[in-house]
Amino acid sequence: MSIGTTAAPPSLSYELYPPANRDAAEAIFNSIAALETTDPDYVSVTYSGSPARRNASLELIEHLIQNTRLRPLAHLTCVGESRESLQNLIRHFVSLGVRGVLALRGDLPTDPEDWRGEFPFARYLIELIREVEADHSAALAGGRLGVGVAAYPIRHPESPSFEHDVEVLLAKERSGANYAITQVYFRANEYTNLVESARRAGVTIPIIPGVIPLNSVRRLNRLASMAGIAPDPILAHALETAGSDSERHRIGVDAAVTLARRAFDDGAPGVHLYTFNDHRGSLDVIEQLELPRTRAQASNTWATRAAV
Ligand code: FAD
Repeated sequence: MSIGTTAAPPSLSYELYPPANRDAAEAIFNSIAALETTDPDYVSVTYSGSPARRNASLELIEHLIQNTRLRPLAHLTCVGESRESLQNLIRHFVSLGVRGVLALRGDLPTDPEDWRGEFPFARYLIELIREVEADHSAALAGGRLGVGVAAYPIRHPESPSFEHDVEVLLAKERSGANYAITQVYFRANEYTNLVESARRAGVTIPIIPGVIPLNSVRRLNRLASMAGIAPDPILAHALETAGSDSERHRIGVDAAVTLARRAFDDGAPGVHLYTFNDHRGSLDVIEQLELPRTRAQASNTWATRAAV
């Protein structure tokens, strides 16, 4: 069964988060250098609304632009933000040379007084990005920004149903999203089901599976709690009972490879690897997937053509 677009080479991308201190910065620079050797389509940089974390994201984006060949995909969250501050940030991204933005609502702040505001859902941020883009048509040489959004193989924790999430994805496409990256998931059929349901509902944009090589139960639990989903008991048991770090590494890589292979069998147009700022698991995953690509292939994916 084919549920995606398989004609073009698959896209390859990674997620990084801004380092919290100097030691972490050194480690991430090594990981960036290692990931660069694989010619990814783009490297996404997570974002958080607090001023210090925001600056750290901007610094990482600037580093990627100034010192590497990597194209950054800037995550941006809108909940609790003012129109003006979002406009300024989008303009700043454009002036730095960013051409791809992942438009997100962001997690709700703990203080209910702070949240929602003018931009309660990601859809409104997409519309704002398109407005700012129109104002910067000259700077973009008439081109457009690539706008990605989040998609959910497992129901979003605040959503009444999985079907509602699919409608929200359709609404985000209609507001101007070019593609979607999925939240983490642990069973291959969850991606298949999402893509089938989305296509039935009329979603046409590429839906990229987001996978992660997990090498510890602590990380699995943390990630599941951040995403608001249950940690996979089979993976948790395997990681818990493994006898060594190298065995845990292998278990995490194998699980990610299995998910990505099944997604490719179902026609996934690429894969997005959540790296946790550690290149080793991700490089092993793409090695096993035989994803190392020639430069020519890397420049011919849907992502490059969509100017992500
Ligand atoms: P939305 O699409 O706006 O959906 C949010 C909720 O509102 C959902 O429950 C949806 O069903 C509901 N909803 C949407 N529209 C409507 C409507 N019109 N009426 C009623 N209900 C509606 N978070 C960060 O803080 N920083 C990051 O860098 C970051 N990166 C991420 C990257 C990826 C690939 C993914 C999948 C998630 C990321 N997140 C990040 C987490 C994300 O911010 C949260 O999952 C957040 O809770 C929802 O964001 P969203 O963009 O999906 O929101």
